[in-house]
Amino acid sequence: MTPWPAKHLTADDLDAFHSEALTKEMQLHLETCEDCRYLVAADRELVELLGRLPVLEPQAGFVDRVMTRVTIAEPVPVPVLSFPRLTRSRVGGLLAAAAGICLSVAWSATNRAALDGWLIAAQSTAVDSVTALAQATMANLAGQSWYESARQIVGSPLRTAVVVAASGVLYLTGIVALRRLITPSGPVSNARA
Ligand SMILES: [Zn+2]
Repeated sequence: MTPWPAKHLTADDLDAFHSEALTKEMQLHLETCEDCRYLVAADRELVELLGRLPVLEPQAGFVDRVMTRVTIAEPVPVPVLSFPRLTRSRVGGLLAAAAGICLSVAWSATNRAALDGWLIAAQSTAVDSVTALAQATMANLAGQSWYESARQIVGSPLRTAVVVAASGVLYLTGIVALRRLITPSGPVSNARA
């Protein structure tokens, strides 16, 4: 005689039980195992209770009742440039920043010798590392294939000015375009009227 399978019913087995697709093995287990019989009974009761729950649906005219309470604002033109409003806390922050700058300047003026000492010490290390970085960057740039043509384009002061001005215009155009892109242009509503 082989013993009955020792494993109890799983959640899948319970689902199979409700759809009456339980295997013969599990049916035999159910006949001998009181725990699983209790589990099946409790599960059946739960399913029955769930089935008796009322189905919740919005009543007729729900959308209309909601929309009568919704005020849709008229679209307002968006200025190309806008500045934050001066609230009390922002003015306070600005004043604190200005006071900090004034204090820093006053301290620097009265402690000139100490500041000079720090600056000279910091300068020598900073100059060394910046020089090394600049040399490495220039060597890297000069090695690029496009370097010579780029150098000819920006060779004269006039051409350099034109390139800088064009870059500025391009940058501003990009900002204005981005602003138009992220600003809604018409009335925005996700609900059906
Ligand atoms: Zn069992």
